Amino acid sequence: MDLVSPQNNPNNYPSPIVGSNSMATTATNDNIISTATPTSSTTTAPPSTTPSRYENQKRRDWNTFCQYLRNHRPPLSLSMCSGAHVLEFLRYLDQFGKTKVHHQTCPFFGLPNPPAPCPCPLRQAWGSLDALIGRLRAAYEEHGGRPEGNPFGARAVRIFLREVRDFQAKARGVSYEKKRKRPKQKVATPSAQPPAPTPATLAGATAAKSTI
Ligand SMILES: [Zn+2]
Repeated sequence: MDLVSPQNNPNNYPSPIVGSNSMATTATNDNIISTATPTSSTTTAPPSTTPSRYENQKRRDWNTFCQYLRNHRPPLSLSMCSGAHVLEFLRYLDQFGKTKVHHQTCPFFGLPNPPAPCPCPLRQAWGSLDALIGRLRAAYEEHGGRPEGNPFGARAVRIFLREVRDFQAKARGVSYEKKRKRPKQKVATPSAQPPAPTPATLAGATAAKSTI
């Protein structure tokens, strides 16, 4: 069914994915989870010949998920897969995350740019997970899965993603709200002239001056 020969995966669980991500120290694109295996040199194609970045990423994600199912204990087939298993998969991916998500007890909780390191864990960014689920949801149906049984579209998954988004927004001090709507500018006064002094003030000043 799959093209990965058993020799390519001599390690038992966790899979070679671990290597590819644990080596990386720099945060790159928040929205792309690297699921490429470093051991396979045959799958790397020059960018010019790739059909689309999205399609490639989707295929890699799908392969990663299928590999996750194969390594699952107890064994898990795609047809048995539920939203709960998808959540399990997302939590498994968290160990390869590159996004610092502060604990509520961390002094840097809510700071977008912490001034010092802290022991809080690196996680998958919400944007990465959200995009990943979208790709896997499409891939599931492309591989013959029925939309009504799509575990990636399960309610539990949607709720989980929303919770991750809300918590990460607070923990990282960022907003994921789409701000399409610009705040209305205050209506400018038609004339740029400074407000004229009131006649009373003028009168008073004049009066004061004249009495001296
Ligand atoms: Zn922290």
